[in-house]
Amino acid sequence: MENLIARGMQITPSCCLCNGSEETMGHLFLHCSFVGSIWEDVLSPLRSHGLSMSNFITVEALLNAWPRARGTEFGLKVGKLAPYAVIWSVWRARNDSIFRNRTRTAEQVRKEVMAFLWNWMANDDQRGDHHFRELLLDWVSLIQGIG
Ligand SMILES: [Zn+2]
Repeated sequence: MENLIARGMQITPSCCLCNGSEETMGHLFLHCSFVGSIWEDVLSPLRSHGLSMSNFITVEALLNAWPRARGTEFGLKVGKLAPYAVIWSVWRARNDSIFRNRTRTAEQVRKEVMAFLWNWMANDDQRGDHHFRELLLDWVSLIQGIG
């Protein structure tokens, strides 16, 4: 243990995204203020449903509670993948900050979330009827079928 500390490993590291709380899985992916703005944006079509990160202790609980989509098949699939894209993008932002000293803004992470979603749909037939800019600019109307 002392050897690890000597090599710079922190035992209870603080969150590198908000520089605040202790970095637990629950904090990093759910309750971090930096990440909260990304969730809020992704969930913006759902605001009336009151899905709040503070209601969840684990990522698994959030995934289990993630609302099913209605509307177009494309919107449905993207809506289903959205929480995974947020988690993946947050993990990348966290690792780049720690290991490469590269920081991102929440807006950059949000755009990456949409880029991952778009790329993950690359082999989907419905993607041809849509444009990447819909994810960036028309997210609410694309996902508003969720409920
Ligand atoms: Zn944080």
